[in-house]
Amino acid sequence: MDPLLRYARAQQSGAIALIRQFVECESPSDDAAAVNRFAGLLAESVKDIAKVRPHFAAGHGRHLRCEFVLPGSKKQGQILVLGHSDTVWPLGTLRTMPFRRYNGRLWGPGVFDMKGGLALFIMAMRALRDLNIPVARKVVLQVNSDEEIGSVSSRALTEEIARKSAAVLVLEPAGPEGKLKTARKGVGEYRVVVRGVAAHAGLDFDKGASAITEMARQVEVIVGFTRLARGITVNPGVIRGGTRSNVVAAECSLEVDVRVPRAGDARFLERQFAALRPFDRRCHVEVAGGINRPPMERTKAVAALFEQARALAADLGVELDECAVGGASDGNFTAALGVPTLDGLGAVGEGAHAAGESIFVDRLADRTALLAKLVAAL
Ligand SMILES: [Zn+2]
Repeated sequence: MDPLLRYARAQQSGAIALIRQFVECESPSDDAAAVNRFAGLLAESVKDIAKVRPHFAAGHGRHLRCEFVLPGSKKQGQILVLGHSDTVWPLGTLRTMPFRRYNGRLWGPGVFDMKGGLALFIMAMRALRDLNIPVARKVVLQVNSDEEIGSVSSRALTEEIARKSAAVLVLEPAGPEGKLKTARKGVGEYRVVVRGVAAHAGLDFDKGASAITEMARQVEVIVGFTRLARGITVNPGVIRGGTRSNVVAAECSLEVDVRVPRAGDARFLERQFAALRPFDRRCHVEVAGGINRPPMERTKAVAALFEQARALAADLGVELDECAVGGASDGNFTAALGVPTLDGLGAVGEGAHAAGESIFVDRLADRTALLAKLVAAL
């Protein structure tokens, strides 16, 4: 058996204990103190194998950079590993969704997205050290505190270090059956505001220009930007307008989620939104927003990185596959810079952001071994 796999199996109870510690330290994105408690716990758990540097972020928990001290001389270049410390679960979720091991799985808030992945990566680095397996490159794990809320405060930090890295590995949850994610759509949000003319619906109906009626017509145009065959989706998710039923509405606003598989599609949508014009010339249409996470495209370099991972997994007796997904991660930023990025390397499980969030115990060891082998091979 592969020595890394044997090691990971022998250490499985340690991995489960670490995952439990991580899950039981809740860290919702909007609670800086809680995220900092988790960051402290994470820093403590790597202190014997990594130098940890905090990066303060106004209004958020701190981001962490952990530079691993691993066997192997003369390190050339570096590998960036990306994780995030925040979860979507509010403080107190543990009361109704406690950490537990049941039915071959570990359950709890954030266990899949992505505390399991963080713990497995730490176990993988311990394996390299304990088995004295040489690593050719410097290994830096960056753990962002605001991924679930758009990475506004960490994006520049991520991009700065990615530019200096030969490859990026992302510890986000795996796809179905452990698939890696080699393409992610870009994500954006547009906000459309229509300003009309208010009037009494009974006395001065014809003097009014309804922002709601105008917006209804705009929505018909906007949903027409969807190109399902090309993977471009445009979803008007929130609409608000008007004050009372007997007033012709002066204002109406719309929030639209957009997803694009290719950078060129982002420009297509920009042009479409910029071209919106009022049907009723007494109304004004204002558009703001755009793509905030560029698409992660499956370039040749990404495909080559995946092939390398697939071969390493085969050595472990695991058939590794890949998938493309609609959701975005911090890997979108690094891939858009042209740095080969492999995502979905975290735990294998189900139900991210949902009550059934869980990971499979029988996939902990092979995932740990895969992470260790990848780091050693790159
Ligand atoms: Zn995540």
